[in-house]
Amino acid sequence: MQEFINVERISAKQRESSDRIDDFREIYDILGTEDASIQASRCIQCGDPYCHNKCPLHNYIPYWLKSTANIDLKLSFKLSNESNPFPEITGRICPQGRLCEGDCTLNDGHGAITIGNIETYISEEGFKKGMRPEFPGITTDKKVAIIGSGPAGIAAATYLLRAGIKVDMYEKDNRAGGLLTYGIPGFKLDKSIVERRIKWLIEAGMTLYANMKVGDNITFDEIVNSHDAVFVGIGAQKSRKAKINNEKADSVYMAIDYLRSAQKRLFN
Ligand code: SF4
Repeated sequence: MQEFINVERISAKQRESSDRIDDFREIYDILGTEDASIQASRCIQCGDPYCHNKCPLHNYIPYWLKSTANIDLKLSFKLSNESNPFPEITGRICPQGRLCEGDCTLNDGHGAITIGNIETYISEEGFKKGMRPEFPGITTDKKVAIIGSGPAGIAAATYLLRAGIKVDMYEKDNRAGGLLTYGIPGFKLDKSIVERRIKWLIEAGMTLYANMKVGDNITFDEIVNSHDAVFVGIGAQKSRKAKINNEKADSVYMAIDYLRSAQKRLFN
C-alpha cells in the first residue's frame, strides 16, 4: 500500500470514438487484475477514511482496496457486496468525483484512488469467476410487496431477500429497473447489467410483476391486504423546469421524457 508516491492514478480506458460511433454500448473498459491491484495499492489506508465517510452507503472502501491490492478477489467481492446491493452498477454510475474520490485524501495533489473503476472491476471479475451475490432462500413466512423496481426497490428487495423474506415486486413498465433502465443511457450502464441483477433477485425468491400499474391493474388495497408490509419506491420521475425563455416551445422535451423515449426506441 501507499504506492501513490511511485504510481500515478490511471482510470479505465475509454473506447475509441471511431468504435463508439457504431453502437450505444458502454464507453469505459473494465480494469484488468494487474491495473486494479496496482491502482488499489496507491491507497494510504487512512485512519479516518473520507472515502468511506462520504459514500452514502458507507462502503468498506479501504478494506476492499487492500484486498484488491493483495489480489484476494474473494474477499474484495464479499466486502463490496456486503454494504451495497449492486456494486457493479454504482461503480459505473455513481458521481465518484463528488463522493468517495472527491473526498479521497490523495485527491489533494496526487490524484484520488480510482475507486469507481476498481469497484466495477471487483464485481465483473468476480462474476466472471463464478461468484454471485449470496441469498439464503426464503426462510420466513413473511411477504413484502415492493412497488417500483428502480434502485430503491432493488435495494429493498436485496436486503429483504437476504433476510429470507419473500418479495413481490410490482413494476408499471414492461422491464424492471426504473431509471437504471429507462433513465441512464446505455453508454453509461448497459441494460444487460440491470437485467442480470434482476434475474439474480428472481432466482433468490422474488416475483416480478411487470406491466402492473398500481391503481390500474391492481389496487393498492389488494396489495396491502395480501402482504405483511409494503415498500413504495416509485422514484421522482417528474422533470424539473429550468425556468428559461421558450422552454415550452415545440421540440423542447423534458430530460426524463427524452431519455425514456430514446431508450424505448432502442428496446424496440
Ligand atoms: S480516502 Fe483515499 S487514500 Fe484514504 S482510505 Fe480512502 S481511498 Fe484510501
